Amino acid sequence: MTAGGGGGGRIVVVGASLAGLRAAEELRASGFDGTITVVGDEAHPPYDRPPLSKQVLAGVWELDRIALTVACEGGLEALELDWRPSTRAVGLDVAARRVALAGGETLAYDGLVVATGAAPRTLPGTGGLSGVHTLRTLDDCLAVRAELDAGAHRIVVVGAGFIGSEVAATCRARGCEVTILEALPVPLGRALGDQIGAVMGELHRDHGVDLRLGTGVERIEGGARVERVRLADGSAIPADLVVVGIGVSPNTGWLAGSGLTIDDGVVCDATTLAAPGVVAAGDVARWPSRRFGELMRVEHWDNAIAMGEHAARRLLAEIGVADGAAGGAGGEVGAGAGVAAGPMVYDPVPWFWSDQYDRKVQLAGRSSGADEVRVVDGSTDERRFVALYRRGDRLVGVLAMNRPRLLVNYRALVERGATWDEALTLAASA
Ligand SMILES: Cc1cc2nc3c(=O)[nH]c(=O)nc-3n(C[C@H](O)[C@H](O)[C@H](O)COP(=O)(O)OP(=O)(O)OC[C@H]3O[C@@H](n4cnc5c(N)ncnc54)[C@H](O)[C@@H]3O)c2cc1C
Repeated sequence: MTAGGGGGGRIVVVGASLAGLRAAEELRASGFDGTITVVGDEAHPPYDRPPLSKQVLAGVWELDRIALTVACEGGLEALELDWRPSTRAVGLDVAARRVALAGGETLAYDGLVVATGAAPRTLPGTGGLSGVHTLRTLDDCLAVRAELDAGAHRIVVVGAGFIGSEVAATCRARGCEVTILEALPVPLGRALGDQIGAVMGELHRDHGVDLRLGTGVERIEGGARVERVRLADGSAIPADLVVVGIGVSPNTGWLAGSGLTIDDGVVCDATTLAAPGVVAAGDVARWPSRRFGELMRVEHWDNAIAMGEHAARRLLAEIGVADGAAGGAGGEVGAGAGVAAGPMVYDPVPWFWSDQYDRKVQLAGRSSGADEVRVVDGSTDERRFVALYRRGDRLVGVLAMNRPRLLVNYRALVERGATWDEALTLAASA
């Protein structure tokens, strides 16, 4: 029995953004000719998020530049998707293979891709105050940009993570006064290590940002509109606009009681399979990386693409589609035991970039939990360098600031599991 309208059955993709769209595209590219229903709670056609904190916020790109496109001839239309924008999935029954939608409709499926991404954490007590924003969606970006266009000048950014840092850099380029409040003693210390985190902090100060470290926010104050940020020590910073960038949480609320394992994301096996007939991809997915020996959830653009595509292929193998026809929703294949599960292990070297001021930071591999971080090329003072990350005797990550060519070389070493000594040998010969 198949769930879709056509003879090929139905695959439902929940989350109409980067991972979901790439999964849908790959389903078609791999020959799936049944119904692909894409459910997304945003009203806009799919778009790229990285420019939201960079070119779009700066006002140098208009919205036509960020539309997500597909490679196939005929574009998005040619995928013949059953497209459901402004539609929220509110429940999942894995055993019955059904997704419940907010309007009351239920979608039966043969296969399901969970690609619901992540949502920004908010500061408690800021709900009704205008001028306080997070930045995840196009609507968030346009709201912040409208405030900047209207003359907001004193900007307070809460959190010196990548999004907060990019917002700070973009606001400085627009001529605003910018204060960053960071609770930790070093920006990005947990992610990049204290030494590189300190460099990221100095980069802000080079550009005239008032960076306050080890600083707690007590509350955000104002009438109808934000007026100031009250700090834990009782002092206050006047603010026309506050952008809160204190991390994200995976969008898994709709999966409560579904039977999936939820633990800081949808937990999958090493092949991206979360349950019979269900795969997950992108920011919402967590999987055991054999390469790095840890359960990983990666909030990177590149991973959303690669994992979306991989999960689509994995799903087709799971539901028994070799040449375009779904074999049915019998559920006889258990998680992790699907067709060709062995070769279908998802084990990438994650890759990420961030643009701040005139610097491009790129990171390949893992940087958290390193035993050692060593700068092997260039100089942190000049903000142009390469740093390597070691766990045990292995090279696990490489971070480059304005050194793109060298990043590629070291990334190849991480990909082939090189030792730390091999990496140092390359560094000595460079
Ligand atoms: C401002 C910004 C800048 C970034 N810059 C960079 C960068 O420079 N480099 C980099 O590598 N990465 C960057 N990223 C990260 C990158 O954009 C994400 O990793 C990527 O968007 C993840 O794609 P995704 O499809 O997994 O999730 P998302 O893009 O979050 O998409 C998930 C979609 O699912 C929808 N959804 C959620 N719940 C439901 C539901 N119940 N029903 C229906 N739909 C639902 C959401 O509304 C959303 O549309 C940036 C992200 C942001 C926000």
